[in-house]
Amino acid sequence: VFDDHWIRSLHVASMRREDLHGGHEPHVLFQASTIGALLDGAFDGDLTFAELAEHGDLGLGTVNALAGEMIALDGAFFLADVDGEVRSIGAEERTPFAVVTEFEPAIEATLAAGLDHDALLERLDALVPDGTASFAVRLDGHFESVRARSVPVQHPPYRPLADVVADQHVFELADVEGSMVGFRFPAYVEGIEVAGYHLHFISADRRRGGHVLGSRAGGELRARIDPSADLHVELPPAIDLADPDLAADTHAAIDAAEHAG
Ligand code: ZN
Repeated sequence: VFDDHWIRSLHVASMRREDLHGGHEPHVLFQASTIGALLDGAFDGDLTFAELAEHGDLGLGTVNALAGEMIALDGAFFLADVDGEVRSIGAEERTPFAVVTEFEPAIEATLAAGLDHDALLERLDALVPDGTASFAVRLDGHFESVRARSVPVQHPPYRPLADVVADQHVFELADVEGSMVGFRFPAYVEGIEVAGYHLHFISADRRRGGHVLGSRAGGELRARIDPSADLHVELPPAIDLADPDLAADTHAAIDAAEHAG
């Protein structure tokens, strides 16, 4: 049972866990719960990583108890802990928030060496056609530096995300080979998703990673982009899609939680 919404040019379909079926639909973004729920401290979800893997092989998010930053790459799921140390995530672990897609890039480009983070994001903006609602992106190459953060594992009763982020650790990965993966969503989905760019990094040796706050490329970067106009959201019990009017109210909270540091 799908509940369909059009939010301008993005088609948002919500469903309950019992209605989920194996996806593997190209160019569809699949999301577990909403960023609004995460902001409110809903840090335990019911979706397992085995289930999540049926809906995509690339993406980001977190795990139950908000024990770090999740990175999905080539169908493998990793967690960067509060200090950016990476481990594999087990199939039976669960997530309170994640976004994945069956990554089939339609756009490929080589980006000039040495881009700083703002220039990098501008280059990505320039690669997608006007009117692109959202897209998944993967960047591979050598980074002179990646400024990243992660969050400490939480214990109930949970605090709001904005309070947890005050305890985040910010760290710098220097001279590192790796991949940046994530999404760009339009401002009008805020409350459901993080508006703008949301990127997570993992090193090529799968030892270090986190939520990206900034970067500077070393060499050229290989950029791959998979545009999408479809977002499927699995809603946990008691969570509904945020009223679009809530977007403005949640803006400050999301900004504080996702771009802080
Ligand atoms: Zn993140």
